[in-house]
Amino acid sequence: MRDATPEQTETIYLKDYAPVPVTVTHVSLNLRLDPLATRVRAKLTCERRGAGEMVLDGEMMTLKSIALDGSPLPDDRYTLTGTTLTLHDAPDAFILETEVEIAPQKNKALSGLYMSNGMYCTQCEAEGFRRITYMLDRPDVMATYDVEIEADLPVLLSNGDEVARGKWHDPWPKPTYLFAMVAGDLVATPGTFTTMEGREVALNVWVRPGDESRTAYAMDSLKRSMAWDEEVYGRAYDLSVFNIVAVDDFNMGAMENKGLNIFNSKYVLASPETATDADFANIERIVAHEYFHNWTGNRITCRDWFQLCLKEGLTVFRDQQFSQDARGFATQRIGDVLNLRARQFREDAGPLAHPVRPESFVEINNFYTATIYEKGAEVIGMLRTLVGAEGYAKGCALYFERHDGQACTIEDWLACFEDATGQDLAQFKLWYAQAGTPRVEVTEHFADGIYRIDLRQIVPDTPGQSDKAPMVIPLALGLLDTAGREVRGTEVHALTKASDSLTFDLPEKPVLSILRGFSAPVILEMAQTDADKLTLLAHDTDPFNRWEAGRALAKDRLMRAITEDAGFDDAWLGALATLATDAGADPAFRALALALPSQDDLAQSLHTAGVVPDPDRIYAIRRAATLVIAETLRDDLTPLREAMATPGAYDPNATDAGKRSLGGRLLGLQTYLDGGAAAGLAYDMADNMTDRMAAFSCLLDVGDETVAHRFETDWQHDRLVMDKWFMAQVAHAAPRDAVGLADRLTRHKDFDPSNPNRFRALIAGLTAGNPAGFHDPSGVGYTFLANWLLFLDPSNPQMTARMSTAFDGWTRYDADRQALMRAELERIAGTESLSRDLSEMVNRMLAP
Ligand code: ZN
Repeated sequence: MRDATPEQTETIYLKDYAPVPVTVTHVSLNLRLDPLATRVRAKLTCERRGAGEMVLDGEMMTLKSIALDGSPLPDDRYTLTGTTLTLHDAPDAFILETEVEIAPQKNKALSGLYMSNGMYCTQCEAEGFRRITYMLDRPDVMATYDVEIEADLPVLLSNGDEVARGKWHDPWPKPTYLFAMVAGDLVATPGTFTTMEGREVALNVWVRPGDESRTAYAMDSLKRSMAWDEEVYGRAYDLSVFNIVAVDDFNMGAMENKGLNIFNSKYVLASPETATDADFANIERIVAHEYFHNWTGNRITCRDWFQLCLKEGLTVFRDQQFSQDARGFATQRIGDVLNLRARQFREDAGPLAHPVRPESFVEINNFYTATIYEKGAEVIGMLRTLVGAEGYAKGCALYFERHDGQACTIEDWLACFEDATGQDLAQFKLWYAQAGTPRVEVTEHFADGIYRIDLRQIVPDTPGQSDKAPMVIPLALGLLDTAGREVRGTEVHALTKASDSLTFDLPEKPVLSILRGFSAPVILEMAQTDADKLTLLAHDTDPFNRWEAGRALAKDRLMRAITEDAGFDDAWLGALATLATDAGADPAFRALALALPSQDDLAQSLHTAGVVPDPDRIYAIRRAATLVIAETLRDDLTPLREAMATPGAYDPNATDAGKRSLGGRLLGLQTYLDGGAAAGLAYDMADNMTDRMAAFSCLLDVGDETVAHRFETDWQHDRLVMDKWFMAQVAHAAPRDAVGLADRLTRHKDFDPSNPNRFRALIAGLTAGNPAGFHDPSGVGYTFLANWLLFLDPSNPQMTARMSTAFDGWTRYDADRQALMRAELERIAGTESLSRDLSEMVNRMLAP
C-alpha cells in the first residue's frame, strides 16, 4: 500500500459534480457483529463507466484484507488514507472484496453502525455507510444488496425481503445512504396491508420488550399513509415486508431506509398516558413522511447531495398534504406556516441563509435544514399553485414514469412539469437558487370606481448573494366588501416583475385578502387598517387569512407595546373574546387564534422593522398582554373550559385534540388570574399526557415548588416522559433562574448528554423555550451553551452543529449581547480539533 496524506476539510461545489469512473452494481455484505470487533466482509460488483481511478470512501475502520477477482491485491495496486481507498488500474469489470473491522460500541456519533441499549442499528444518511465498509458512498451509485447478519440475537433485520434467518435480499437498486441493518432483542407489532396491485405486505413495528403497548398509533398511521399514497399519488409499495424500528439513541427524527425505516423512539411510541396530542400528530406525520420517501427519495433518489430538496422538499409537501387530509386543512396549514416562520424565516434572515439548492458545503449533515425541508416544501406548493392541481398531477406522473430507478436533479424534476404542462419554469427555478425571504410591499388605491393594488417585491441580500432577480410569486387573493361579504373569490396572480399593479372595477374600496392560504413563502408588507383586519378576522372565507388577520392585529399590538408603551385596545380584545367564545368555530382554530406570537417571532419582527429586540421586554410585554386577555375573558374561562371537556376514553383524533388545545390555552389564561388553583386541580385530575403537560406548564409558570418533584416521582421510569420534564422546567423557569436551573439539571442523575433526545430537551428548553433566559444580559446562557457544545462535539458532532444554531440570531441583539455571543462563537471556533460539522457552523455564523 502506498502512503498518502489525509484529506483536508474542504468545500465541495455543485459545479464540480462528475459521475464516477467506476461504479458498483451489486453489494454483498456479511456482518459478524461484535461490540468492539465487528467484521464486515464486502463483495462489490464493479463496472467501469469512464476513465479514472476508483476512490472508495471508508473511515474509522481497519482494513484486514483486500482482493480483486479472488486474488489478494498487492500493496502497490491501492492507496489507503484515513478516509479513502484508491484502486489503481482497476479493470473494466471486476469483483472487489474487502474485510474490515469496526467497533459499533465506540461509535458515539450515531452515524454508521452503532449500539443503542444493547441493540445494533445503523444511520447512513448522509455519509454513514463509509463507517461500515469501503464503498462509493454517494447517492448516484445505486446497487442491489445481499446482506447476511451473524449475531446471537433474536431479531436480525435489513433492507428488502428476508430469504433466510439473518439473510436479506433487496432487489431495488439503492444508494448507500438507504442501507440499514438492525439486530437485537426486539418485539414486533404485526399488521398487513394489501396494495392496490394486490401485493400482500407484512408490516411490523419493532420495539424493545415492554414497549409493545405503545405501537398502535404508528401502525395505524402507516396503514393510512400507504392507502393515501395510492389514492392521491397512485404510488404502491413494492416489497413484501415493511419494517419500522424504534431506537432510543437517534440523532434525527427518522430515516427512510428501503423497507426498514428506523425511527427515533419519540416518533413511534405513544400511549394516552405518555404522549401528548402533539406527539401523536408528529408520529402520524413522520411515519407518513418516511413511508412517502419510498417513491420520492428511494425509487427516485438524488444525483448528489446538493439536490437534497428534490426528495425532502417534495416529501415534506406530501406529508403536509396527508396531514391536511387527516386533520383539516386550516389548522394544519396554520401550524405549518408557524413552523416555517419560526425556523425557516429565521434561518433565511441570518448568517446561515442558503438557497433551497445550495451550491457548496463543507459538511452535508449541516444542510438538513428548515430551508431544504420546509422552504423546499413551499416551493413544491407554489409549483402546484402555478401549474394547477391537474398540471401538478400530470407532472408528478411523468416524473415517476420517466425517472423511476434514477438519481436525479432539480432540472429533471422541473422538466417533467414543463413537458407535462407546456409552461416555462425558468424564472420559477430561481426559488431553488436565490436565498432569503422575499418581501412583498402592497399598497392600495381607490378612486373613481377603480381599485388598484401596487405590488413590489424585494429579494434581500444573503451571505454570498446580492442583487437578485425578481422571482415568480403566486399571490392568491380575494376581495370582501366592508360588510364582510366576498365580492371576488380566490384568484391567483403571479407577480413576476419587481413591481406590478392589479386593477379591479368596483363600486367601493374593498377589503383585500391577499396571500390566501399563504400562497408563497414571503413577508407581506401592507398598511392595512384595523377595520379591514377586523373584517377579515370575522368574515374572510379563507380560514388561513382569518387567522392571519388576527395574528397581524396581535403582532401590531405587541410591537407597539414594546416600542411605544402602547396599551391594549378594546377593539382588539373584543375581537379576541368574540372568537374565543364563538361556539360555532372550530376549537383548534380558536386555540390558534388565541395564541400570541412567540418571543422569538417578535424578536425577528422587531429586527426586520429596524428595532433592536430586548428579550426581557418582549417577555414582559407578552405576559402583560396575556394578563389583559385573561381579564377580558375572566367570566368565560370556566364555562368555556367545561365546554371543551372530552368525556370518555382519550382519543388522539384532531377534533378532541382541538378541544384539549383550546382547553389548555384557557387554563393558561386562568392561571394568570388564580395563581395556579385551577391548574393544580387539572394536574391532579389529568388522565392523559396532553392535559397533564398543560397543567404542569401552568404550575411551573407560577413557580409551584412541588410539582416538578411530583412529576419526577411519577414518571422517572419513562425516558420519553422525562425528556418533557427536563424541557418544560427549563422553558418555564423565570428568565433570571433559567440558566441556573438548566445547569443544575445537567447534574441530575438522569441527564445523559450522549442521548440526543435528552441533550436536546435540556439545551433547546433553554435556547428555544426560554429566550429571555438564554439571552440573560450577563452572558451566562451563551457560556452554558458553548460549554456543552464543546463538551459533546468530540463524540457527537452532528448534534452539536445542530444545537449551535441557537446562536444564529446573534447579530439582531444589542452591542453587549452581540459581543458576548461573538466571544463564545470565537471561543468555539478557536478550539483545537473541532469537528468539521461544528467548525463549519460557527465559521458561517461569524462570517460578516
Ligand atoms: Zn425526509
